[in-house]
Amino acid sequence: MVVARVFGKSSSEAVQREKERLAALQQLDLLDTPKDEGFERIVRLIKQVFSVDIGIVSLIDAHRQWYKACSGMSGDEVSLEDTFCRYVVDCDEPVIVPDASKDLRFATHPAVTGADHIRFYAGVPLRTKAGHMIGTVCAIDRRPRSFGSKDLCILEELAGAAMDRLELMQSAATDSLTEAMTRRAFKQEADQLISLALRHQHDLSCIVFDIDHFKKVNDGYGHAAGDAVLKSVASICRATLRAGDLFGRIGGEEFAVVLPHVDRERAAAVAEKLRTAIASQVIFGDHGSLTVTASLGTSALSIVSRDIETLLAQADAAMYQAKQGGRNRCVSWSSIHADHAIGARRRVLKAGSILFNDRRSTIDCTVKSIGAESAGISVSNTAGIPSEFTLAIKGEGFETNCRVIAQDRQNLEVAFR
Ligand code: GH3
Ligand code: MG
Ligand code: MG
Repeated sequence: MVVARVFGKSSSEAVQREKERLAALQQLDLLDTPKDEGFERIVRLIKQVFSVDIGIVSLIDAHRQWYKACSGMSGDEVSLEDTFCRYVVDCDEPVIVPDASKDLRFATHPAVTGADHIRFYAGVPLRTKAGHMIGTVCAIDRRPRSFGSKDLCILEELAGAAMDRLELMQSAATDSLTEAMTRRAFKQEADQLISLALRHQHDLSCIVFDIDHFKKVNDGYGHAAGDAVLKSVASICRATLRAGDLFGRIGGEEFAVVLPHVDRERAAAVAEKLRTAIASQVIFGDHGSLTVTASLGTSALSIVSRDIETLLAQADAAMYQAKQGGRNRCVSWSSIHADHAIGARRRVLKAGSILFNDRRSTIDCTVKSIGAESAGISVSNTAGIPSEFTLAIKGEGFETNCRVIAQDRQNLEVAFR
């Protein structure tokens, strides 16, 4: 259930601030990017400097807190409703809780009453140079403790260092683990190729793929084996692709390809070639030998999809359809388009609400892509969301009835009705 998260400020002011915050976050485009040793170092430093159990650097979108780095606790992300950090977002300033069991806001929180036994929390905003809060940096402990103004200064310094590093990362072109292009560099070069293709009326296609059940690799064989798989998948893809193709790592275990001079049909054939190459590669290492598969989505330049954000959003939607269809397969955006009569789509980052049960139930969501006839939405958990509901975008007066056309644990593809 959603709790109104407005403290002392007018609701429209809060909605506007949230809109600007999400716009700044979208501009940085760092959500779900690969882990980075620089941030791991910052969270280890937090633990050392304050002698606490847990250190976190996080980014916060409309419905979840995603850990850019986290030491002392497992997991990659958590629903914003369940976090202490949402108070930092709401107040737009540091929050210090010396003993959560004695704090009315947190005393009954499962992380306090349960096995996690959280007692101390200090969280400060992670703020862009322009002043927008895009996440938090926090120190958390299982024992109550005090936190003086000097401590707060140090934590804020560390948040400053994290922000500097986030901004520095904007200029990185190559992902150090896989040697694929970083998401930002990939998009920049893709846009140049797209301009050329449009000017000279050449074909151009896009593929997005995500490794299937990758969590099982990490859980079953360890993180190092997971990294070895990523490296190996990237290398087999590069060997399969042509020199003029762009290959980028756009998420932890999600990659994208831009194929210049390749039309829709041939893109589907390239995707199939990649799928076979990935599935048939045996990856050897300390973990023994293992194989993985991937689900792929393709899209192509057209009158309605003329930029990389749109191509990625369409290929992404097709990829979810491939996951839904059983994984280890390729789906083309044009086939979803034909089946569901949905048109172009653009990547966005907007705070939304899913309303159902005669509007008595509301779930916070992040709208990640949207067009005139469809949208891509992410939530903390799709379980319990009906196949038809109303989607609202906060502060925009946008509301429409939707039908789910594909879904996984955290993502929904919907067509408007
Ligand atoms: P699905 O088939 O639905 O894609 O299942 P999945 O398990 O692959 O799904 P999910 O996207 O939930 O899990 C991706 C996992 O990838 C979670 C995250 O910890 C892991 N991961 C992300 N980046 C890295 C990395 O750089 N190295 C390693 N080893 N794991 C990573
Ligand atoms: Mg994934
Ligand atoms: Mg996956």
